[in-house]
Amino acid sequence: VSQSASKLPSKILELMDGFRASKALFVASKLKIFDHLKDKGPIKAVDIANGVGTSVCGTERLLDACASLGLLEKTPQGYSNNDSANTYLTSDGKYSLHGYIIHSNDHLWPLFTNLEYAVKEGSRQNHRAFGKKADDLFKDYYHSQEVKQRFMAAMHSIAHLTARDVATAFDLSQFKSACDLGGCTGALAYELVQVYPNLKVTVFDLPEVIANTSFFQPSEQHTAPVTFVSGDFFKDDLPEADLYILSRVLHDWPDEKIHVLLSKISALCKPGCAILLAEMVLDDEKKNRSTALLQSLNMLVQTEGKERSGSEYQALLEQHGFTNVKIRITGNLLDVILCVKT
Ligand code: SAM
Repeated sequence: VSQSASKLPSKILELMDGFRASKALFVASKLKIFDHLKDKGPIKAVDIANGVGTSVCGTERLLDACASLGLLEKTPQGYSNNDSANTYLTSDGKYSLHGYIIHSNDHLWPLFTNLEYAVKEGSRQNHRAFGKKADDLFKDYYHSQEVKQRFMAAMHSIAHLTARDVATAFDLSQFKSACDLGGCTGALAYELVQVYPNLKVTVFDLPEVIANTSFFQPSEQHTAPVTFVSGDFFKDDLPEADLYILSRVLHDWPDEKIHVLLSKISALCKPGCAILLAEMVLDDEKKNRSTALLQSLNMLVQTEGKERSGSEYQALLEQHGFTNVKIRITGNLLDVILCVKT
């Protein structure tokens, strides 16, 4: 008996196609098709193929798939970017996701290919995906300039999407100095000094990252300056600050390493100093938001960490004397937790 269309398992069918759709987006981004179409009228498939150096028959199918997914407009005159493609898919806009898309294609895709092993073994899969595994995932990222640049571009692009909501989830105007631990390219730091012009922000990250941050400085230099300091937050002295920020840092690590870091921060904090966490905060039953639960799988395939619930973060923080834990679910990709040393 054949199924009637109304009874089709549409959710499952959509997920079976999910990887094909993701790959179509990734390949169109890699080929810079959205850059090619930027600020131009409709262009025919043959001209796009000639422009980006690909086959006409393959390009036409890729373009049609992208148009059907809402990534491009298709008219009888040809293909053009829609507003969303211009903002998020071209490689040079402030809110471009190009860096994260390339990271997804080149790095996360091979890791997710090994998800089955990650689930069976409960550990990250760098060795299977890339032939080697360092003892710390960031050593895997920073062993080559190319992989490091790609990772930093990915963090930079996704941080731009969340920085304003992270900076404004709580009123931080009582703090005079902040240190963004693992602050990478400074994307959040530059947003913070715009929102709080009197706040002095220091970005602390590994030397390999700090050496590479000049690529990512904002072009408009009317914002207050941000200071960059290099070091290892597990081993080296941390800069002094009233507010310590950990954005997408704790999810990289198991509880034991988080305790090392939080106890170092706690030892530096006077009463009234605070920690601001930015993470995808899970609900206590870990039922909600597939984005966050899929991100936890993303942590499984490449880190020793995971996404945690609000109560789990609260318990970690309270063990180090941080109380008055407040959680804001922002509706953006990152939620925000503020707590104070008492
Ligand atoms: N905070 C940024 C954001 O939200 O976009 C970047 C998050 S990224 C997932 C984690 C950051 O922690 C990277 O920039 C990485 O270099 C940094 N990091 C990892 N281990 C570190 C260490 N031992 N000391 C200092 N920074 C470290």
